[in-house]
Amino acid sequence: MKLYFCGRHVKKIIITIDGWSSCGKSTLAKQLAKELGYVYVDSGAMYRAITLYFLRNNIDLAERKEVKEALGSINLEFVFNPKSNNSEIYLNGENVEYLIRDLIIAERVSDVAAIKEVRELAVAQQQQMGKKKGIVMDGRDIGTVVFPKAEVKIFMTADNAVRVQRRFKELYEKNPNVTVEEVMNNLEMRDYIDSHREVSPLRKAKDAIELDNTNLTEKEQFNKALFWAKERIVTG
Ligand code: C5P
Repeated sequence: MKLYFCGRHVKKIIITIDGWSSCGKSTLAKQLAKELGYVYVDSGAMYRAITLYFLRNNIDLAERKEVKEALGSINLEFVFNPKSNNSEIYLNGENVEYLIRDLIIAERVSDVAAIKEVRELAVAQQQQMGKKKGIVMDGRDIGTVVFPKAEVKIFMTADNAVRVQRRFKELYEKNPNVTVEEVMNNLEMRDYIDSHREVSPLRKAKDAIELDNTNLTEKEQFNKALFWAKERIVTG
């Protein structure tokens, strides 16, 4: 079935948002998904939930057999919570959306996400979720590996100091003991590991549009991204 708007063909597309840590990817992705009536998927939540499982079960990342077996016991699911108006991640039936935002997880997640088998599991699920299109997914390899044919690819950047302040504010609300230095070290470490790993390193896809939001308000960046999306949604 073809959909039309003012005589023009309207199609469902895939929007990917990749970029450095704490650039505001998820904020933009959620706003776009809401506006377009699309599904939003936070791919980082999947790597964080797997990290939580590995930490709880003392999985040795150097032992590939142990890692593979552990992955076989992991079930990840996103469930929409009307109260938070957000899709929340469940690890083996437990809502871990809040727990995975902890700095302890952020300190380990990039090492876990660099493991080939971990990525294979996550990417297969992500591609399944995008089968019907009408999806906005944010992460590090979404436009390059998960959906290389996505209609709209955005690569987000922002000055380091701005990113550190944003993440610090977010973490401080949960834990007043957190320091700016800890947050800065964590962002630097994750960006380094994410962009230097062998499997699916963080890269700007050739056909991605770069969005530097250092000096943009949320509204300004949203308007830009919505314009790019609408250009692809309404055709002919
Ligand atoms: O997006 P978020 O900061 O929650 O992601 C946490 C970590 O998960 C990243 O630092 C990265 O190591 C990993 N990740 C990834 N690929 C994705 C999404 C996240 O490797 N598509």
